[in-house]
Amino acid sequence: MLKSYGYAAYNPQTPLRTFHFERREPGPTDVRIEILYCGVCHSDLHQARNEWNGSTFPIVPGHEIVGKVIEVGSQVASFKIGDLAGVGCMVDSCGECPDCQDHQEQFCADTVFTYNSPDKHTGKITYGGYSNQIVVDQGFVLHVSDNLNLAAVAPLLCAGITTYSPLRHWRVGKGDKVGIVGLGGLGHMGVKFAHAFGAEVVLFTTSPGKEADARRLGADDVVISKNAEAMAKHLQSFDFILNTVAAPHDLDQYLSLLKRDGTMCLVGVPSEPHPSPNVGNLIFRRRTLAGSLIGGIRETQEMLDFCAEHNIVSDIELIAMPAINDAYERMLKSDVKYRFVIDMATLQA
Ligand code: NAP
Ligand code: ZN
Repeated sequence: MLKSYGYAAYNPQTPLRTFHFERREPGPTDVRIEILYCGVCHSDLHQARNEWNGSTFPIVPGHEIVGKVIEVGSQVASFKIGDLAGVGCMVDSCGECPDCQDHQEQFCADTVFTYNSPDKHTGKITYGGYSNQIVVDQGFVLHVSDNLNLAAVAPLLCAGITTYSPLRHWRVGKGDKVGIVGLGGLGHMGVKFAHAFGAEVVLFTTSPGKEADARRLGADDVVISKNAEAMAKHLQSFDFILNTVAAPHDLDQYLSLLKRDGTMCLVGVPSEPHPSPNVGNLIFRRRTLAGSLIGGIRETQEMLDFCAEHNIVSDIELIAMPAINDAYERMLKSDVKYRFVIDMATLQA
């Protein structure tokens, strides 16, 4: 076994701190990666605090991983020592079910998530990217361009694919009016992608101070969501809305902004349910309320390649590992510009 170390939540209440653990030795199809940077997703906070009631402690969060390949198994063809590599939310799946056959591994019943998930290899629980190294089957390792700022690439592995995938699935493009709700880690990537795909983009925010940034990131208009008059100006005008909010809120105020046949896709996963929307708000305009989960491995590579081609990365605040607990508090106050990324060189053994 490989002696490894990282930062873990030992229980839902106390701050994260150093944790020593073991990872498996790389098998024939495995890649061992020295982790250089790891993004901080709101899902990490939800699970470190057991807000989804499924956490096994100690939990080592982190699923926006980029680093350098330091060892490859004998059957690994597409990675060599020294390559840059990325790992997102998944490290394994069954490979055979209809979802896996369709390259939608995130929907497989046997998906192994990067952390807090039963590991088929060891029978233990997986540990994520707030750590010095990780061992992952080559089928779940992504190629990362060396033309982009590597720290700012890390959030693409979750925040990037989680917004890219629904925008592609609902074929957002030129001529569409698209709303993004919430300017956090996911939301700011949603703004960048919707803008890059040629849509007219409107950002809905609870934070008046984010307006200038939203425009810089690609929004054509910014609406403060509690301003009823400003909201009313957009009634029945959107083709698609991507809602990234991590807290329960009134969905009707956004559903009523959709055109006939428009769709609002939820990607935020609050710990408590949203108030149930008014059914009439759906029926009378044949609107759709939908959801989406990250994206498959093939589409994640497509997204990374699109970002390399179009020079798209995340806007980040680089932090040292011990600052993670303060970062969580700031994330809860919607005070992150716009993704924290941990510099793993600051992780002490
Ligand atoms: P984040 O960085 O904290 O961003 C969330 C944003 O939502 C905040 O910055 C804030 O933006 C807005 N917001 C917060 N509280 C709000 C409230 N009470 N009412 C309205 N807006 C509020 O979080 P994130 O990392 O982007 O993640 C967002 C959610 O997506 C989390 O629940 C996470 O678990 C989930 N997630 C889902 C998937 C998936 O595959 N579906 C993948 C990754 C993450 P403003 O300041 O602009 O209002
Ligand atoms: Zn995430």
